[in-house]
Amino acid sequence: MVDDRRDEEVVVNDSCIGCGACVAICDQIFDLNDEWKAYVIEWADIQNCDCLDDAIWACPVEAIEKK
Ligand code: SF4
Repeated sequence: MVDDRRDEEVVVNDSCIGCGACVAICDQIFDLNDEWKAYVIEWADIQNCDCLDDAIWACPVEAIEKK
């Protein structure tokens, strides 16, 4: 099933401090960019991921938002 809105369902806001916790916990969804800010991988399968909630919980600055 193609879901071209999936990248709108989880966002990393400007609070990210680049600690890498979300990437360590859920590297199918998150990666760090050149500025050490996390982003949601474009092709991430958010619908079927079971580590997203753990990553959200682990973020020390509540930078990951589910829409
Ligand atoms: S856990 Fe939060 S602060 Fe750390 S890299 Fe991920 S989004 Fe950024």
